[in-house]
Amino acid sequence: KKYVYFFGDGKAEGSGDMKNLLGGKGAGLAEMTNLGVPVPPGFTITTEACVEYQKLGDYPEGMWEESLKALEKLEKSINKKFGGKENPLLVSVRSGARVSMPGMMDTVLNLGLNDETVEGLASVSGSKRFAYDSYRRFIQMFSDVVLGIEHNRFEEVIKQVKKARNVEIDTQLDENDMFELVEKFKKLVSEELGRSFPQDVFEQLKLSVNAVFDSWNNQRAKTYRRLNKIPDEWGTAVNVVAMVFGNMGNDCGTGVAFTRNPSTGEKEFFGEFLINAQGEDVVAGIRTPEPISQLKGEMPEVFAQLEEVYRKLENHYKDMQDIEFTVEKNQLYMLQTRNGKRTAKAAVKIAYDMYEEGLIDKKTAVMRVAPAQVDQLLHPMIDPEEKYKAVAKGLPASPGAAVGKVVFTADDAEKMASKGEKVILVRNETSPEDIGGMDAAEGILTATGGMTSHAAVVARGMGKCCVAGCGALKIDEKSKKIVVDNETVRENDIITINGTTGEVILEKVKLIEPELSGEFAKILEWADEFRELGVRTNADTPKDSATARKFGAEGIGLCRTEHMFFEGNRIDAVREMILADDEEGRKKALYKIKPYQKEDFIGIFKAMEGLPVTIRLLDPPLHEFIPHTDEDIEKVAKYAGVPADKLKAKAEELKEFNPMLGHRGCRLGITYPEIYEMQVYAIIEAACEVKKEGVDVLPEIMIPLVGHSKELEVLRNITEKVADEVISSYNVGLKYLVGTMIELPRAALTADEIAEYADFFSFGTNDLTQTTFGLSRDDSGRFLPAYIDKKIYREDPFISIDQSGVGELVKIGVEKGRSRKKELKTGICGEHGGDPDSIYFCQKVGLNYVSCSPFRVPVARLAAAHAVL
Ligand code: ADP
Ligand code: MG
Ligand code: MG
Repeated sequence: KKYVYFFGDGKAEGSGDMKNLLGGKGAGLAEMTNLGVPVPPGFTITTEACVEYQKLGDYPEGMWEESLKALEKLEKSINKKFGGKENPLLVSVRSGARVSMPGMMDTVLNLGLNDETVEGLASVSGSKRFAYDSYRRFIQMFSDVVLGIEHNRFEEVIKQVKKARNVEIDTQLDENDMFELVEKFKKLVSEELGRSFPQDVFEQLKLSVNAVFDSWNNQRAKTYRRLNKIPDEWGTAVNVVAMVFGNMGNDCGTGVAFTRNPSTGEKEFFGEFLINAQGEDVVAGIRTPEPISQLKGEMPEVFAQLEEVYRKLENHYKDMQDIEFTVEKNQLYMLQTRNGKRTAKAAVKIAYDMYEEGLIDKKTAVMRVAPAQVDQLLHPMIDPEEKYKAVAKGLPASPGAAVGKVVFTADDAEKMASKGEKVILVRNETSPEDIGGMDAAEGILTATGGMTSHAAVVARGMGKCCVAGCGALKIDEKSKKIVVDNETVRENDIITINGTTGEVILEKVKLIEPELSGEFAKILEWADEFRELGVRTNADTPKDSATARKFGAEGIGLCRTEHMFFEGNRIDAVREMILADDEEGRKKALYKIKPYQKEDFIGIFKAMEGLPVTIRLLDPPLHEFIPHTDEDIEKVAKYAGVPADKLKAKAEELKEFNPMLGHRGCRLGITYPEIYEMQVYAIIEAACEVKKEGVDVLPEIMIPLVGHSKELEVLRNITEKVADEVISSYNVGLKYLVGTMIELPRAALTADEIAEYADFFSFGTNDLTQTTFGLSRDDSGRFLPAYIDKKIYREDPFISIDQSGVGELVKIGVEKGRSRKKELKTGICGEHGGDPDSIYFCQKVGLNYVSCSPFRVPVARLAAAHAVL
C-alpha cells in the first residue's frame, strides 16, 4: 500500500480528485502543482495511514520509510538538507482532513530548526534576526501543538521582553531580543518537561506527524465533527511542505483571500495580507491585516501574478476558492486552495452568477446551495424603519442581526442558552474551544481579528450573525465588562449586533423577517424544475398560510385546529364543553365555538386559493384544556352556569397520568362524536361559502392518532354524513378528501387495512418517533443529550428522522397502504418535513409531499431538488 504522495518540480503523484485519501489540503496542493501554479514542494501522508495509526497505535508498515524517501526527494528538489548545518531544509507539518475543519487541527511551521541549523539559516538568509525569529516561532508552536505547553506561557515571555525593550509589536524586536526569546523559550520547555527541547530534526518530524494524527481526536475536532456531521472514521492526512518565508523582510508577506466575496457573493477579489509576517499571523488577529487591494500598490508584480493564479484556480475548480499564499522576496507561493466557505447569501449569488457566466449548469447551481444553509437567508434583520444609534462599528463578518444578553465566555453562552435565554457571545477573539458557545449564541461579537479570523469563518459556516474586529470595544473578559464610547456594558445587558453592516447597538432593536431575494427566488425556481416531492406547509392561520405561499408552499399539509380552541376567550366555551355532563351540554358549548372555527377556515381557504388544505380534527388530550386553578374553575363555572364544586370534581376525574397516550386524537371523536361533527360542519360550511364566492377550495379532513382501521371506518362515516349533508344544502359541487395520520406503530403495520378508509396518509413523525422509541417528546430533553454524547443515537431522532426504525415504519406504511390503494396520497407533516436529511429519506420511500413550517418551505424546496439530483 502506498502511504505517501509527493508533489514538486511541477508534478504531483496525487491529484485534486483524491480528497478522500490526501485530504482536502493535500489534494489541493497536488492539483495546484499539476496546474503549474507555484507551490513549494512537499508530500502528503494519507488519511488511510492515520486511520491505521489510530487502530495500531503505531505507523502502518512502510509509512515512515516512504516518508523519509519523499523527504529526500524534497531535499533534492530545492537543494536543501533536512537537519543540514549549511543550508537547512525547513518544513511545515500540516493536517488536512477530507473536508476543511478550520482551526480544528494544528499546523507546525519552521520544523527542522535546532541550535545548529538556526545558524545555517542565519548565514544563508543573511539575517540572524529572521533565523532566530523563525526558531522562536517554531519552539512556541511545536511546544504548544506537540508538547502540550500552552501558547500563552510563551506569549507571557514575549510580553516581558517587549516591556523590557519598551516596544509595542513583535517586528520591533531585534536579533538579540529574538536570541533571548529562544533561550528563554528553551528554558521554559526544560522546566515544564524535565527534558530539553528536541534537537533531533527527525524526532521533531515524527512527533509532529503523531500530533497531527492525534489531533483528529482532540475535543474541539470532535465537537466540530459532531456539529457538522463529519464521520469520526475519516482521519486526517498530514502534509509536509517545504517552508517559504513571509517573514524575511518587507518584500515578504502572507495572506488569505477569496476569489469572490464570501459574505455577499459579489464578484470581487477579497482578502487580507500582512507584510513581513508568517502563517497564522493573519488569522490569529494579533496584528490587523490590510485589505488585499492594497497589495496592488505595495507589490504590483506579485499582485498581478496573484490575480492570474486566482482566476486560473477559480476557472479550474469552477467554484469560489479560498486561497492562502506567502510571498518570499517578491516570489509568490500558493499554500492552499479549497472551495471557500460562504454565507448562504453568497452561496446563492455565486451559484446564480456562475450559471449566468456559463461556468456551471443549472443543476450544479442548484446543488451549490446547501438546503440547511439557506435557513440563514430566512433569518431576521433589523427593521429598516427602526431608528437607532450604533455605538461602534466592526467588520460585517456574517450577515443577519441578533439581539441578546451579553455573555463573555463560551460556557456561559451554553448555560444561558440551555435555559432558553438569547445571548450574544462577546470575546476579544474566539478560538476553536469556543465552538460550542458560538453555536449556542444568537450572534458573536469580537474586538480583534479580521474578516478571515476564526470568529468570522466559523460564524459564516454556522450561518450565525457576527461582527468581528470591533476595535472600539475595550473588552475585559475577566471582570466581564465592555467599555465603549464612555459607556459600560456588563454581563446580561441587552445589545443588538448587525452582521450585515458591522454595527453594534447598546439596546434592543426590532428585527424583521427577511424576504426572498431575486437570485434566491431564481435558484428555488430551478430547484422546482428538478424536484419530485411536493412541498406544503404547516399553518394554522391565514397569516402563516400567506407567508408560506410567498415562500412557495403548494398547499397546507397540516392545519392544527386546537390552536383555534385556545384563542381569546374561546377557551371558556371549550372548557364548558369538556366539563359538561352529557352530549346535550357539550353540544351547547360546542356551537358557541363553531362560528369562530368557521371564520378561521374561511380565512385559510381564501389565503390558499384552491390549493389543498389538510385540516386535522381535534388532537390534544382533553387534559390540556382542563382548568387547573380554583380561579379558572370559578370562571368557567360562572360562564357555564354550573356550580364550581361540580366542575372541580369533573376536572379531577379528567386528569390523566400519561395524557400523550391517553384520551386524545380520534379517541375524542369516538367518545364525543359531536366534537368532530362540529368541526366538520365548520370546515365544510366554510369551504362551501368560499367556493360560492368563486374561490376554489380543496379541503382534506384528517383524523389523528388512528391505530385501528375500525376507528377510521366509524369516523369517516360520521365525517361523510355531515359533509355530504352540508354540501347538498349549499348546492355546490365541493370535493373533499378524508384521510388519516399514521403516527402509531400499529397504524403503520396495519396500513393496508386502514387504507381501505383513507384517501391519504400523512405521517405524523413527531408522534411516530415518540411512540416507536417509547420516548416522551416533552421530557426526553433530560437524557437525550447523553444518548447523543455516547453515540447511542447518532442524532436527536426528533430533529432528523431515525431511518432504520421510525423510517422503516414509514416505509411499511407506504407500501402496505399503496398495496390496498394504488393512488393513495402520502405525505409527512412532522418537524422532519423541514429537515434536509429527512427529506432525502422521504424521496427515497416515495412520499408525494413534505410539509413544514412556513420559514422552512424554501429549505424544503431546495432539499427536495437535492434529493433527486
Ligand atoms: P489551516 O488548516 O489552519 O489553514 P495550514 O496548514 O493551512 O493550516 O497552515 C496555516 C498557515 O501556515 C498557512 O496559511 C500558511 O500561511 C502557513 N504555512 C503552512 N505551511 C507553510 C509553508 N510550507 N511555508 C510557509 N508558510 C506555511
Ligand atoms: Mg490552523
Ligand atoms: Mg490553511
